[in-house]
Amino acid sequence: MRFSRRGLIAAGLASTTVRTVRAAPDMADVIVIGAGLSGLNAALLIKDQGFKVTVLEGRNRVGGRMNTLRSVEGNPEMGGDSILGGYGRMQDMAQRLKVQLIDFEGRRDLSPDAQKDPTTVELALGGRVIRRTDWPTHPLNVMPDGAKDRFPGRAYFQSVIDKFNPLKSFEDWVDPASAKFDGSAYEFFKSHGWSDAAIDLNYNTNIQYGTSAHDISILMWYFTQAWFKLQSDIQRVAYKAVGGNESIPEAMARSIGDVHLGKSVAGIRQSANAVEVQCEDGSIFKAKRLICSLPVPTMRWLKFDPLLPPMKAKAIRTVPVMKITKVVMVPKKPFWREDGFSPAMWTDTDAGEIRALREGNDPNKVTCLMAWARGFLADRLDMMSEKDAMAHVIAIYEKLRPAAKGQLVPGGFKSWQSDRFSGGDWVVWKPGQISECLPALKEPADRLHFCGEHTAVSNRGMEGAMESGERVALEVMALL
Ligand SMILES: Cc1cc2nc3c(=O)[nH]c(=O)nc-3n(C[C@H](O)[C@H](O)[C@H](O)COP(=O)(O)OP(=O)(O)OC[C@H]3O[C@@H](n4cnc5c(N)ncnc54)[C@H](O)[C@@H]3O)c2cc1C
Repeated sequence: MRFSRRGLIAAGLASTTVRTVRAAPDMADVIVIGAGLSGLNAALLIKDQGFKVTVLEGRNRVGGRMNTLRSVEGNPEMGGDSILGGYGRMQDMAQRLKVQLIDFEGRRDLSPDAQKDPTTVELALGGRVIRRTDWPTHPLNVMPDGAKDRFPGRAYFQSVIDKFNPLKSFEDWVDPASAKFDGSAYEFFKSHGWSDAAIDLNYNTNIQYGTSAHDISILMWYFTQAWFKLQSDIQRVAYKAVGGNESIPEAMARSIGDVHLGKSVAGIRQSANAVEVQCEDGSIFKAKRLICSLPVPTMRWLKFDPLLPPMKAKAIRTVPVMKITKVVMVPKKPFWREDGFSPAMWTDTDAGEIRALREGNDPNKVTCLMAWARGFLADRLDMMSEKDAMAHVIAIYEKLRPAAKGQLVPGGFKSWQSDRFSGGDWVVWKPGQISECLPALKEPADRLHFCGEHTAVSNRGMEGAMESGERVALEVMALL
């Protein structure tokens, strides 16, 4: 299946007749559990076609992994961040619901082009900031031959994956013929002559996907690279919504109307002609069909009666999710002018990567610093209280940058894996898992239908979530 940039929604729904027949008052046509982008998109499409749809959301807010920290200037995003050039569904939805988008591309510190701008992100290894001019001959430099002048990390290793990417189009990752590429990232780097030390520095230090280069599929990376290349080929933008990205799911929920917050689903029971949903507060909802948009880890705790088919249950149990913990720090003054380094750093500490966001009204003002701790770094922060984790990250920053002493105020903390309604970030794939588990995650189980970024062909992000909501809405409406 090929995806055009825009118009797929319109094309899909043009063939669906608007229904006027209504379900009995106590029974919806469709219940959607989860009010993230995927569930809300499915509900909106189904409602627009005249069916009776009820949305049940466990949290006391909508948006799921879209989460804006509105208490800090610039509304930093703790979850879904950038709406890229090819995110046709997201851009269409914002336009339709009159949520204004602003392009922040020019203000992003950690774009794949960061390496071209030496002032953008500093390298901090072994307890100090290393000047770019000192790096090629630095004792800690274990970069592969021919790349001694490159800073380690994603911009470098992604350029290598790009060079050898066998996929012609991003959708090819789900083609069974691509299964032959589904080895580990470690094997890929080794086959290109990298030492273990180079793999460790470039891949494992600030892990993007997986917990190490051993347990992540290189096919996932081929897909990711092809997807991001397509985004910038279409238009090099990084939109965010005015008031924060959470404004988009909030507007979607207002359009749907029948969205119940604080309804944490504990169990789902199917009978011959209905589905019954049991919430933790004892309430029960019934419908002809159910759409489950819950993230993979949260489905592990749901009671399904009857049990899910074995392959689906296995996929839910075994597909990993990325771990990310974020710490937001607000600078009292631009202390970086004193030491001459950029406030953004790529470090080998528990603070991970630290980005300097400029998302307020003044495009030149750094509104906050955001530390991204991923994988085992996230685990380490999660073992502390929120207050201690924020203090720990600030102490690390101050040690690397004495000019920052007393200048950083804790602004926010978010551990996605400690949040019971997400259990982590997006799914990632182990070597060999894609062809077996992706179809199983997506397939319906009688009256139960599934969406969410983990079922999407396009990315594990917002556009993937929207795509999956659209696919499941069409799947369900064809059966009502
Ligand atoms: C740190 C971070 C950065 C990101 N950056 C980007 C980015 O730059 N670009 C991009 O495209 N994407 C990004 N994403 C990914 C994007 O935000 C997600 O892929 C997308 O929002 C997922 O939507 P979803 O509907 O699949 O799941 P969710 O948004 O997780 O929705 C699922 C919903 O189910 C609810 N729920 C869970 N359990 C229950 C239960 N038992 N009962 C009732 N309700 C329940 C949850 O509360 C939630 O509202 C990022 C995500 C994170 C966390």
